[in-house]
Amino acid sequence: MAVPKRKTSPSRRNMRRSHHALTATQFQECPNCGELKLPHNVCGACGFYNGREVVAVEA
Ligand SMILES: [Zn+2]
Repeated sequence: MAVPKRKTSPSRRNMRRSHHALTATQFQECPNCGELKLPHNVCGACGFYNGREVVAVEA
């Protein structure tokens, strides 16, 4: 089995992990009902996307 020749230094390890941070989920207000929704996703509350109802929502 291939094995690294050198131990990864704490500096190298931390530099590798510098891109691992999570960011908070972004929400947008639905232009139809005002509910918070994920961008580029159908609104879960009213089923609207891009100004028209694309998913029927049970009342
Ligand atoms: Zn909506």
